Amino acid sequence: MDFSNLNAFEWCSWIPNKCNIFGWRAEMGRIPTASALRKRNIQIADSLCVLCESAEENVDHLFSGCIFASRLWQHISTWCKVPNIFVFSFKDLLDLHNFVGLSGKKKEIFYGLMIIVCWCIWRARNSFKFQNKKARMEGIIGEVKVLGFLWAKSRAKLHNSLDQFKTFTIAESEHPVSE
Ligand SMILES: [Zn+2]
Repeated sequence: MDFSNLNAFEWCSWIPNKCNIFGWRAEMGRIPTASALRKRNIQIADSLCVLCESAEENVDHLFSGCIFASRLWQHISTWCKVPNIFVFSFKDLLDLHNFVGLSGKKKEIFYGLMIIVCWCIWRARNSFKFQNKKARMEGIIGEVKVLGFLWAKSRAKLHNSLDQFKTFTIAESEHPVSE
């Protein structure tokens, strides 16, 4: 196994391992997109992105360049009250939390959400490709908010309600440490 890129991916403590592992593999181009399969000489009939059908499917397209992903990121930026998200690569997405003016718990939550969104895009892509279930923008947004809330509640000591989370209201801590 090649561990040379291991340090490039920043593990997020409050999302499940399956999401972190997905993010880590995606960053290395190790998820089975059409482009990745082709590079491994696996014959595939159709290499177009199933979400837009207008470009070859690879990691950077699927999560940043695709019109479906771009519209999803617009929703996420509005929800999290950060500047519009324009990214050109998967790596850009993973770095974004450092450049959107967030700090503390909000920043930590935002970073995890970026990975959850990509994980949900990948699942929607798989459902469409293998079960012919059409990807719905509203469905993915709903899923991101509910999963994000449940995981943040149990693993990031989130003290807010789901309704508050849905407006990205996130309290720093119930018992702030005084300095
Ligand atoms: Zn696309």
